[in-house]
Amino acid sequence: MTEHTLTVAGVAVDTRHWIGGERVASTETFTDVSPIDGSLLGEISRGTAMEAAAAVAAAKAAFPAWAATPRAERARILHAVADGVEKRLEELAIVETCDNGALLRSHRRGVMPRVAHNFRFFADWLLKLEHEDFETRGHTNHVSWDPAGPCVLITPWNAPLMLATWKVAPALAAGNTVILKPAEWTPLTASLLADIAAEAGLPAGVLNVVQGYGSEIGDALTSHPDVRRISFTGSVPTAKRISASAAANLTPLSLELGGKSPLLVFADADLDLAVDLAVEQYDNAGQVCLAATRFLVQESVAEEFTRRFVEKAGQLTQGDPRDEATDIGPNIHPRQLEKIDGFVQRAIAAGARAVIGGHRKDGQYYAPTLLTDVAQDSEIVQEEVFGPVLTLQTFATEDEAVRLANDTRFGLAATLATGDPERAERVTAQLVAGTVWTNCFFVRDLQAPFGGSRHSGVGREGGTWSFDFYCDVKNTVTAPNGWRNH
Ligand code: NAD
Repeated sequence: MTEHTLTVAGVAVDTRHWIGGERVASTETFTDVSPIDGSLLGEISRGTAMEAAAAVAAAKAAFPAWAATPRAERARILHAVADGVEKRLEELAIVETCDNGALLRSHRRGVMPRVAHNFRFFADWLLKLEHEDFETRGHTNHVSWDPAGPCVLITPWNAPLMLATWKVAPALAAGNTVILKPAEWTPLTASLLADIAAEAGLPAGVLNVVQGYGSEIGDALTSHPDVRRISFTGSVPTAKRISASAAANLTPLSLELGGKSPLLVFADADLDLAVDLAVEQYDNAGQVCLAATRFLVQESVAEEFTRRFVEKAGQLTQGDPRDEATDIGPNIHPRQLEKIDGFVQRAIAAGARAVIGGHRKDGQYYAPTLLTDVAQDSEIVQEEVFGPVLTLQTFATEDEAVRLANDTRFGLAATLATGDPERAERVTAQLVAGTVWTNCFFVRDLQAPFGGSRHSGVGREGGTWSFDFYCDVKNTVTAPNGWRNH
């Protein structure tokens, strides 16, 4: 143990940056607290423009060799990173739970296996990545994906390692080098990832991790002229600041932002299934960008849907996320809890009725809430709450359902519950959303395009779309008998 190590549930985590293959401490620190009980986890190096510049320089220096590393060797190392994640899966799961308060059982069985899969999937996809050559008047066209250079990846706290590696893996597979900045409320698993990557043989400087407040280190990263790509997941206001900062160098951006997605329940739906899908929206205490937080239910089944929803939601257990029996854990931060309660109390003051919840609980917990009697143009229907707060509105016709579904500034996802395949096709075609699920929720294949429309994001990642973003895609055209006269 050193003064730069903290211990969470018996796991040692280095609190410094990881730059150019070395641990680097800042003179200042910030405090990391667990949302489970408010306990102090430790003091983390608080990066500034100086560490940002050092990390970009390290990534730039490491880029030529990594970009020139054969695809098969890059893929082998990424699989070794996945092996390391699997070997330390229990440690990653418990550290993440203590840091962000999401369920340990989800981290163990869903999230951390998925983190390993992120590396395996993009390593394997890289090996298959090709575009068939084609001819133009006898000339041969070839398409190649050239690594772009240092990539800045900025991630939020609601699914820290999952969202970080969903960017890190394709960026590295593509032959780029990376500067990862995790959220300041959840810095720990990114530090463990740096250790795992180094043990797996990733060369120094290929992956760099810097810690700190976005307002202090963010600008220096996103405005840096040597950065070739920025991929950001987070809130709309931050996305606007990053876009402005990146504009100085026309750095290409991928933005994965918030949502206010609808769950449309038609009268012809299997109502039990619809209720199951609805209750799932409390997962991760409602801190899921894709959550279908607006229930739009056809009038004729609204009462029965509500009755069954209340019954099912009443069976959820709220408490310590380390307990296997817990369904809903704490919210991330006292400030976030204030924000959530502010939304709910303003909605109630404006005439909304809390069918369930509508209040804080002891500690950092918010009662699972369902609000009805909400107007389409009200704040609670239009703005992302990012807590366990759902609204219910009714509709009479399919046209009205589509109109309500599309009537926010977001367009991340939509979920349909219907027994009619033709209706599903008709409605899906009209929805503004990056992903539409029919009679299911949260099925995410890494080869699928992922992203949002309007204020939910810019661009798509996933499968080949990730490589399109993280690479300079090149077209090489060769003349027929092109070598004869040379
Ligand atoms: P946030 O925008 O406050 O912070 C996200 C990250 O940006 C953090 O690492 C933060 O330090 C950094 N940051 C802040 N200011 C910065 C600046 N000026 N320059 C550079 N970086 C800066 O978001 P959050 O509260 O951490 O995350 C919640 C939001 O993320 C919600 O809106 C949620 O919907 C969204 N989200 C979207 C997706 C998606 O895939 N679409 C997934 C998860 C979360």
